[in-house]
Amino acid sequence: MIRLDAVSKHFAPRGSEAAVTALKDVSLAIPRGEIYGIIGPSGAGKSTLIRTVNGLERPSSGVVRVDGVVISGLDEAALRAERRKIGMIFQHFNLLSSRTAFANVALPLELAGLSRQAVRAKVMGLLDLVGLADKAERYPVELSGGQKQRVGIARALATDPKVLLSDEATSALDPETTRSILALLAQVNRDLGVTIMLITHEMAVIREVCHRVGVIEDGAIIEEGTVRDVFARPRTATARSFIGSLP
Ligand code: ATP
Ligand code: MG
Repeated sequence: MIRLDAVSKHFAPRGSEAAVTALKDVSLAIPRGEIYGIIGPSGAGKSTLIRTVNGLERPSSGVVRVDGVVISGLDEAALRAERRKIGMIFQHFNLLSSRTAFANVALPLELAGLSRQAVRAKVMGLLDLVGLADKAERYPVELSGGQKQRVGIARALATDPKVLLSDEATSALDPETTRSILALLAQVNRDLGVTIMLITHEMAVIREVCHRVGVIEDGAIIEEGTVRDVFARPRTATARSFIGSLP
């Protein structure tokens, strides 16, 4: 479903800053229906990696495919259409504060040109799915962190994506809320068949929902395997240091 072949990403030098190689020759294959976790130190390239998958970053070299489509080769117009198949959720939710929960979820559907009735039916179904049907008219400021992330998930699912990208989506939440959001992601994966790529610094998150995990350091994937294998027998010092931090 998601496939990277020899993807590198260099950021050009700016002002007094040196050039940065954020990704080095990354190859990766995530089959349909998998939840793939990414761990690694700060600055390792995790966000850059996930952003190449929806075309927010263009690789300097290499090829990114989602569902067989070469994302890295598309022009802006084609990319916009393709992005409907790829939802994303964020650490700080990225909701529009001037819009209600309903209107936040409705936005991608309005942009896609759906009729008012079709938008209404779809949004209410999504809010129901994430357990927020009774909060449709609330503004983000009136919602808890967990509720805001539920709105973020509903919005990400509005265009029936095949892939969901999650960049530290539970990092701002307390452990109990984190568990409920992870249960929701697992449900989305199981019931809707959505393939999920998830960045986290919380090992408990990996253990709870991921099937496989990749460890990234200095822009390269240095270790990869099933969660069971990597957690039982981490091969690199970096993986050991992360897994050793488990509560
Ligand atoms: P964190 O855990 O702190 O979120 P990360 O693993 O997500 O880190 P990235 O955000 O992917 O790391 O950054 C990887 C490297 O690329 C870093 O050195 C960062 O400074 C650099 N980088 C990322 N985005 C840009 C950009 N737009 N311009 C220049 N350099 C960038
Ligand atoms: Mg990051």
